[in-house]
Order: sequence, then C-alpha cells, then structure tokens
Amino acid sequence: PVLLFERAFLSSSQGMAFTLQERLQLGIHGLLPPCFLSQDVQVLRVMKNYENKSNDLDKYVKKASSPLNDLSSFLFVLSSFFPFSFFFPRGLFITIHDKGHIATMLNSWPEENIKAIVVTDGERILGLGDLGSYGMGIPVGKLALYTACGGVHPQQCLPVLLDVGTDNEALLNDPLYIGLKHKRVRGKQYDELIDEFMQAVTNKYGMNCLIQFEDFANANAFRLLNKYRNKYCTFNDDIQGTASVAVAGIFAALRITKNKLSDHKFVFQGAGEAAMGIAHLIIMAMEKEGISRQDAIRKIWMVDSKGLIVKGRSHLNHEKEMFAQDHPSVNTLEEVVQKVKPTAIIGVAAIAGAFTEKILKDMAAFNERPIIFALSNPTSKAECTAEQCYRLTQGRGIFASGSPFSKVTLSNGQTFFPGQGNNAYVFPGVALGVIACGVRHIPDDIFLTTAESIAAEVTEQNLAEGRLYPPLDSIREVSFKIAVKVVDWAYKHDLASWYPEPADKEAFVRQHIYSPDYDSFVIDDYRWPATAMQMQ
Ligand code: NAP
Ligand code: MN
Repeated sequence: PVLLFERAFLSSSQGMAFTLQERLQLGIHGLLPPCFLSQDVQVLRVMKNYENKSNDLDKYVKKASSPLNDLSSFLFVLSSFFPFSFFFPRGLFITIHDKGHIATMLNSWPEENIKAIVVTDGERILGLGDLGSYGMGIPVGKLALYTACGGVHPQQCLPVLLDVGTDNEALLNDPLYIGLKHKRVRGKQYDELIDEFMQAVTNKYGMNCLIQFEDFANANAFRLLNKYRNKYCTFNDDIQGTASVAVAGIFAALRITKNKLSDHKFVFQGAGEAAMGIAHLIIMAMEKEGISRQDAIRKIWMVDSKGLIVKGRSHLNHEKEMFAQDHPSVNTLEEVVQKVKPTAIIGVAAIAGAFTEKILKDMAAFNERPIIFALSNPTSKAECTAEQCYRLTQGRGIFASGSPFSKVTLSNGQTFFPGQGNNAYVFPGVALGVIACGVRHIPDDIFLTTAESIAAEVTEQNLAEGRLYPPLDSIREVSFKIAVKVVDWAYKHDLASWYPEPADKEAFVRQHIYSPDYDSFVIDDYRWPATAMQMQ
C-alpha cells in the first residue's frame, strides 16, 4: 500500500499514463482526470496548452490584483489551466463508469476529515456551457474562496467533478480532451450515480458534511435540489446563493427607495436557476412583511426566451407555472416594461444589452429611484453597463451587476461606484456557519438571514456612493457575521447537531476559522504539584 502523501507525488509524476489497474492498485484512482494518455501525448498537450493559454494567464495575472476583482474570469483562467497544472491532486474525478465503487474512490483522497464538498457535473460552467471534465476548476475555485473568504480549513474541503460525458462537440473531437469521450449519460444511470455519491459521502464523512452543488444545468439543478434539500446538508449555489446575494442588494436598495419590499413590482429577464432562486426568496421576504403568498407572487413578472410568462402559454415547466400571470401574451422585454411599469428589473438571461436605452429611460420615467440589476455574467453578457444605467436615468438608477464595473462619473460631476452582486459574499460565510455547528439541512430561511446580514453591513456612506454591497475587502468580516447568524438561527430552529449549544456564538465560530499562521508547534508543557512529582 502506498502512503497517503505519496499519492500526490505519484499522481503527478507519471500522470495520465497510469492504466486503470495501476491507478486502483496505487490507490490514486480519481486523483487524475478520467483519461489515459501516453507520456508523449501528455507532453504534446502541455505544449499545446502552453502555446494557447500562457498569454491569457500572463494578461490575467497582470490585470487582476485580487481574484475577487473578477471572480468569473479568475475561475475561467483557473479552469482552463487546470488540465495541465497537475502538480498535486486538486480534486476527485468520479465517472459514470465508477458507479458502484464511489466509496473506494473517496478512500483515494489523502484527507480523511472532510467537512465540505463542492460538486459539479460540468454541464453549465459560468455562462460558458458544457465543459465536461474541465469543469473541475469551478469546485476548486469555489473551495479556495471557502478558505480565503470564510476561513474554512483547506484540508477539510474536497472538490469533486462528476464526469458523465459531455455534449460539447469540440471536446468530443479533441484528442487531448481529459474527460470521458461520449455524450452525457442521462436518466436512470445518472440519477443512480448522484444518489450513490450522496450516500457514499455521508457514509464516510457523516450526515453533516456540506455538499454544495455548482454549475449543474437547469433541469438537473432544480430536480436534485428538491430531491436532496431536506435529506442532506446541501444547497445549490446558482439558485440559492444567487438569490441571497441579489436579495441582499435589494434590501440595501430599499434603504434608498425608503419603502417596503412589498411596495415593489419586479420584472425578471430570464426564468432560470438565478431568476427562480431570487423570486422565491423575494416571496419569502414579502411574506415576512405580512402580505400573502398569492399577493407576493403577483408582484413578480418573468420573461423567458418565449416572452412574458402568462397563464396558458406553452413551454411552461413546473417552476415557471407558478409565476404565470393572468395577462395577454407579450413578446418583448420593452413591451413588458411598458405594460407592467415595474419598480425593479432584474437581468439574469445572459442576453447582452437586453436593458435597452428605451427600457432604462422608461424605468426612470416610471420611478423616482428605479432598481436596475444587470446580473448576467461575464461582463460581456451584462444587460447594460453601469455607465448606461446611471446616464440614462440621470443618476437615479439603483444599480448592481454580476460582473464588476468601474466607477462612473456623470457630466454633472456625480460619481457612482456600482455594486457587484457576487455570490462570494454568501457561500463562504454560510459554509463556515453550517460546518461550525453541524447544520443538518439548509432551509431557505438561512439564505434570507444571510441576505439581511450582508445588507446590514452596507453603510449610509456606501449607499450615497451607489454601493449596494459592503466593500469586497471586508468580505472576511462579512462572512464571519453571516456564520454567527447561521449558527444562531440553526440552534433556534433545532437544526444544529453540535451540543451543547455554545453560549458565546461569536467565540464559537471564531474557533473554527482557519488561519495559515495559526498552527502552533509549542509542546503542551505543564507541571504537577511539586509534591506529587517528588522522587521517592
Ligand atoms: P439558466 O438556468 O440557464 O436560465 C437562463 C434563462 O434565460 C432561461 O430562463 C432562458 O429562457 C432565459 N433566456 C434565454 N434567452 C432569453 C431571451 N432572449 N430573452 C429572455 N430570456 C431568455 O441560467 P442561470 O443559472 O439562471 O444564469 C443566467 C445568467 O445569470 C448567467 O449569465 C449567469 O452568469 C447569471 N448569474 C449571475 C449571478 C450573480 O450575479 N451573482 C449568479 C448566478 C447567475 P428559457 O427558460 O425559455 O430557456
Ligand atoms: Mn455557478
């Protein structure tokens, strides 16, 4: 048997040339991408990647002083570089062919005490689509943020890529692709794989092991969330994390519009994971203000690729059905805005420029302070730029975006700092709190509490400058406060599994925060009473 720490070395030295049998014998199966490449071919792919990508990396490193400045491009560069930067095991690759053996594969991982997993099947990576096994960059990057922003111990984190194939033709035709080279396996086989994964993980690491789903395609994302949310300690970041950060921005905006959430009327451009997540959290928050669920639903209008979602329309899935308004059909977003006269528009359809000049001017005409969130990523997909929003609303638009925009100065000299609704405000703090007290499962209330907690960190000064989020450099402090709120909430609602309940929740959470300079090598040195130590 190979020592655990040697596995890391083995998986990098000969790399993808190990056969399946060798990988199994050495206990390193899963630490390498699920493909078998001779060493010659490996050299070729390193060379090719280097030629293609080294310029991008150089540019990126120069551009971004902090990864948080542009999370998605950071993750993208990370994911595109991942394939050839195999110097140590970065994550676990589990394929559809490993069905029945996932427990064995978890044993390959050099760490035993895993508290958090981020898992993807690589089908909807950022706004980029199906990247198959290259999607590993996402769980790796997200878990890096668990540590950087939340203070979760890096050794307690496990990134997982489930490779069930890819429908990306370019990858299927690329001899150097590192994943399984067939179409995605779907249906029963797929579901059994995910079931077995959930079971194997909780068998090995306990029911409290946090499992974050990330970048699954729409239908699977909703299905798996509904299937597992009350059974395992799990959440879907694209649905629930997004909801939390967007609603945090809306809460901050309410301090500018100086009214209640239920005084607002929302139009969503897009009716997918992000839109549904946000809409459901808005409904919860409106109910908390005291209006009925039905009244809350009526304040939300959704537009998808087929137009406004209205009763009796075709292409309505289960999620959309509930938002169908009693209204004649309307095809374009411009017309919807004209007819509905919303107080807020939220863009989450990845359609660049969807908030046209006419829409932005209409919003400014209907509202003293219109709420305009252009959340689609990356920047090139944004519904409008920060500059367009502020200029066309004469500085009255309350703006947030998914990707970063630099500050905008209008001709009258007014300067605005657009807020970035980055999920990194949410998941690291939630994870820290969940891990600290062993939350059994994660209800949406936790994401609402988190949204309130983020909005509470926005100062009046921030708001005056147009910022709807606390500064990114305060993210560790924000995450800490979220974690304390989560722990507090969990005990109040009987969802924590760590007993006895800690009296001082802040001190309790602080104990769980990892810091690289924390490890102490001082030997525990003490004395008994002198008489007891006396030589007889
Ligand atoms: P998704 O589940 O695939 O949903 C996309 C939605 O957009 C679908 O409802 C789709 O309509 C709709 N759509 C497509 N073309 C359209 C058009 N021409 N007009 C109107 N709607 C159209 O994707 P998602 O996870 O929600 O992500 C969507 C976008 O939000 C991405 O750009 C993502 O980067 C961004 N996002 C941002 C944040 C953030 O800022 N923190 C977080 C998460 C996601 P059909 O239903 O008819 O197909
Ligand atoms: Mn995501």
